[in-house]
Amino acid sequence: MEFQLTDEQRQLREEVRKFADEEIRPVATEYDVDEAYPHEVMDEAADMGLLAPHVPVEYGGIGYSSLENAILTEELFAADPGIGLCISSAGFGAEALMEFGTEEQKERVLPEVTAGDAVMGSAISEPQAGSDVTSVATRAEKDGDEWVINGSKMWITNGTVADYFVVVCETDPDIDDRYSGYSQILVEGDRDGLTRDKITGKLGIRASDTAELRFDDVRVPEENLIGQRGMGFLQLMQFFDETRTAVAAQGVGIARGAAERALEYAEEREQFGRSISDFQAIKHKLAEMHTNTEAARWLTYRSAWAVDNEAGDLTALASMAKEFASRTAVEVADEAVQVHGGAGFVNDHDVERLYRDAKITQIYEGTTEIQKNIVARELLDEGM
Ligand SMILES: Cc1cc2nc3c(=O)[nH]c(=O)nc-3n(C[C@H](O)[C@H](O)[C@H](O)COP(=O)(O)OP(=O)(O)OC[C@H]3O[C@@H](n4cnc5c(N)ncnc54)[C@H](O)[C@@H]3O)c2cc1C
Repeated sequence: MEFQLTDEQRQLREEVRKFADEEIRPVATEYDVDEAYPHEVMDEAADMGLLAPHVPVEYGGIGYSSLENAILTEELFAADPGIGLCISSAGFGAEALMEFGTEEQKERVLPEVTAGDAVMGSAISEPQAGSDVTSVATRAEKDGDEWVINGSKMWITNGTVADYFVVVCETDPDIDDRYSGYSQILVEGDRDGLTRDKITGKLGIRASDTAELRFDDVRVPEENLIGQRGMGFLQLMQFFDETRTAVAAQGVGIARGAAERALEYAEEREQFGRSISDFQAIKHKLAEMHTNTEAARWLTYRSAWAVDNEAGDLTALASMAKEFASRTAVEVADEAVQVHGGAGFVNDHDVERLYRDAKITQIYEGTTEIQKNIVARELLDEGM
């Protein structure tokens, strides 16, 4: 068993850390306050090869493994989760094309995304369908050689900036099986009948674009079906191990960013004539923050390794990693604000933003409660 990264993986970490320090950290507060999508940073990220780097080389990506993706994600989120999410979500839905798309779909969409010329979105959630994905009600009906889509999607990351969406639709409502009857359909962002409304006033990750989408008789050619008709939900399930591991890496990044800033501040700040890091109460907080971050990182790496090697109990591991790392992010960011005292309560210091940003990791890609349900289901061998 090796507990160290390869030279290439260490180099990747150093390069992304430098990029994040120079290009993301200095502008993070500004984009957060303005709730603005960071187009300029995205251009820089494209030049660095950071957009959808898991896409295979033949379609313009780098072909990064889940572990390499976790290393990269930690660095981006340690700098700023809002901009970090913009970069790491540029290819949301690309997995569906990579795994099930036609050659034409892959060649058309993926190189544009990795070059920074197009952004993707993955549209699953609806106003009435969140944790229960099987209650998706957006309908796609066949009319000649086209799909006609009607319904609405909620909380869609990259909603107003995306050029392509992978949309989960109900195509075969007559199938009497809870998990069948749904399909994934590629929808171009400029299709007639598609309305996108940006959601503002978010607690955190405010640089990331989130929107509600409405489909009113949106027509796309039948070739836009991704994979097999009626198998969309089951196709989707295959990616959760990977995407939940990626959210775990986001949590590790937020926790590390908060723990590092707390350490730095504790060494600088003096009260009662000495550094606050001299107080045992503060020392213990710092020790726990760093210990928990380290534990979350190794559980995340373990899950990423399992995804890459298709080994071990993938689904339980990914849910364990996601649940633990997101909880660690929330707890460590909370303690980081505490170590900063009043200074942590205003946005002169990054910990204020990290504290707000951390919460989303317990909500998207399946809430904490859903992750625990999955772990328990796997332990009890209950089946889906
Ligand atoms: C900023 C942001 C970005 C997002 N991006 C995307 C995106 O790009 N694409 C997309 O499709 N979706 C996206 N989502 C949606 C996200 O995945 C959902 O919000 C999440 O799955 C929870 O669904 P819900 O909000 O409907 O909550 P609900 O499902 O209504 O849950 C409410 C509460 O009930 C609990 N609960 C529900 N069912 C159970 C159960 N069986 N057992 C125990 N507890 C349960 C939940 O854990 C939660 O605490 C995003 C959400 C946000 C806020």
